[in-house]
Amino acid sequence: MSIADTVASLSGVGEKRAEALNDLGIVTISDLLTYYPFRFEDLTVKSIEEIEDNDKVVLTGTAISEGTVSYFGRKRNRLSFRMNCEHVIVPVTFFNQPYLKKQIDAGKEIKVFGKWDATRKSLNGIKILSTELTNQQEAIYHSSKKIRQSTILKLIKQAWKQYNEVIPEDLPERLRREYNLLTFKEMIHLMHFPTDDLDLEKARHSVIFREFFIYQLKMIWLKRQLKQTQSGQMIDYDVRQLITFFDSLPYELTSAQKRVVNEICKDLKTNGQMFRLLQGDVGSGKTVVAASAILAAKTAGKQAALMAPTEILASQHKQSLDEMFKNTDITIELLTGSTKKKERDNILEQLEVGKIDCVVGTHALIQEDVRFQTLALVITDEQHRFGVGQRKMLREKGLNPDVLFMTATPIPRTLSITTYGEMDVSIIDEMPSGRKPIKTFWIRPKHFERMTNFLKEELKKGNQVYVISPLIEESEMMDVENATTLFHMYQEILGEKAAVGLLHGKMVSAEKEAIMEEFQRNEIQVLVSTTVIEVGVNVPNATLMIIHDADRFGLAQLHQLRGRVGRGKQDSYCILIADPKGEKGAERMHIITETSDGFVLSQRDLEMRGSGDIFGKKQSGLPEFKVADIIEDFDVLEEAREAARQLIYSKEFYQDEDYAELRAQLGMTSENETILD
Ligand code: ADP
Ligand code: MG
Repeated sequence: MSIADTVASLSGVGEKRAEALNDLGIVTISDLLTYYPFRFEDLTVKSIEEIEDNDKVVLTGTAISEGTVSYFGRKRNRLSFRMNCEHVIVPVTFFNQPYLKKQIDAGKEIKVFGKWDATRKSLNGIKILSTELTNQQEAIYHSSKKIRQSTILKLIKQAWKQYNEVIPEDLPERLRREYNLLTFKEMIHLMHFPTDDLDLEKARHSVIFREFFIYQLKMIWLKRQLKQTQSGQMIDYDVRQLITFFDSLPYELTSAQKRVVNEICKDLKTNGQMFRLLQGDVGSGKTVVAASAILAAKTAGKQAALMAPTEILASQHKQSLDEMFKNTDITIELLTGSTKKKERDNILEQLEVGKIDCVVGTHALIQEDVRFQTLALVITDEQHRFGVGQRKMLREKGLNPDVLFMTATPIPRTLSITTYGEMDVSIIDEMPSGRKPIKTFWIRPKHFERMTNFLKEELKKGNQVYVISPLIEESEMMDVENATTLFHMYQEILGEKAAVGLLHGKMVSAEKEAIMEEFQRNEIQVLVSTTVIEVGVNVPNATLMIIHDADRFGLAQLHQLRGRVGRGKQDSYCILIADPKGEKGAERMHIITETSDGFVLSQRDLEMRGSGDIFGKKQSGLPEFKVADIIEDFDVLEEAREAARQLIYSKEFYQDEDYAELRAQLGMTSENETILD
């Protein structure tokens, strides 16, 4: 007998019931025992003075009459009797449960759960409870059309009775003591049958901890395995050349950049495969960090690839790298969908024989005929825009190359340690000095006229401006129409005062490229665009960002857009035009105007929208926990993570009998256990 038995081993569970339970995800006794209630019915006995109309309450008293059943209609009936509750006579009625009559004896004590009718001072009975019942609360479970909540409760009681002796312990005592956890068995018992709120709280804490702990344990264990496989590449770089490179830059790295460079370099030097996420707010200087890793690879005689989500971004990266590397002999080429065939053939040939050190590009990099000689480092920018499959393909072009994902979407710590639990995370949490904060304002559309005066002032100073048209997710066509309408509107408003350009997703990349170049050369002063320019572009002379219908964007996205300005020495502004419906919309506008820290913003965004929403449900890839909530139970998450980390790096975990149950849960075979150092 074990809790791994199927539910069919309970009496009263036939094929049909087993199927109904399976639909709820309950296959084994263990599943059933960990099918926790989502709320409790309060079964403490109440006195009549303290209850209100429609309250569901338990009253106790003496039955002063036998029950009488009266029938009305064909199938309906009513059982009524009266009971004496502390000298108040209360009429009690049960509908369609005539069989309860035999439980009602005049002069005997009775306990009834029902709904209080304050006007009639009567109780609409739901059920009769045993007077011996000591439980103060009754568990309520999610049920389905096929199986009733009371059946689930009955089965759980039965399973508990039959199997409680054989519930195994998953955590050793020292761990339970350290983190104040109940045994697995106690926890299960109190989750279903607590005597008071304190019990329940203790049990819930134990469940939440276990859920996080086991999840993190898996993640960290996987990561450790990845690192320990000797199949990764060792990039034995020349540190002197790196130092020469840093010395050649017109600025000193921030301490956050230095820390992150060190973290990456350490990974490069080891045999294991790097799998690292580099997070940094817009403008925090991720490019130079990527550049140093590329250079490191080159000094070790290896190749690197840098992949960006758009051609504009790829060519910007190429430009920045060329500029940074002007004093080195590294060879970098750009390979995108619009690279001419002849040039492309040439690049491919040189890549294959190792004459090119680094190739920068878009998806074009992952086409089949692109071959490398010694690809050892793959960097992807804005990793969330690449599908997992695409990233995998690029990885497979090298022999388990080190992988660095870069993202400017600040992922709240809460999420990064759960979603990216299998990756190492490096964070640039500091801006280069001398940056001026971008002044952000929120205006209503009716003040648009006044705003245009401000716009004209900025243009007079010789500054450039971005205008972002509202995002229309349903239709790309409408997106384009909108941007075009805005484009004409700004042309009309500005007349001879400025050249207005238009950029949208339906344009071919050569067109986009041409417009971007004109903007960079200041031949266009006002660039109206859909969010295709959302990431990465760098035009220091642009000082004003105007976003129409700003409430259609997420906070993180607004922050990204805002990051396009404030890259030069002058004061920069972001104007959000929005007429948000409801309090939440207005609150979001206030938050973005008051906060300039991307991490704080995305945490707020998360709190306001809930974890399921942050990247959209589908992509979020967040693990589902039965009871735990990564936002509300964040403290426990951190505690569990630390506990898991310590355990993975301890010897006991791999050897002690105490941990056998946990090892089994992780699917660790004895073969895996030998990877100990
Ligand atoms: P992002 O993290 O958004 O990719 P970039 O790498 O494009 O940021 O850097 C933004 C700007 O900051 C660039 O013009 C870059 O030259 C500059 N920069 C990067 N690091 C520093 C630093 N330590 N000090 C001063 N300027 C820096
Ligand atoms: Mg960048």
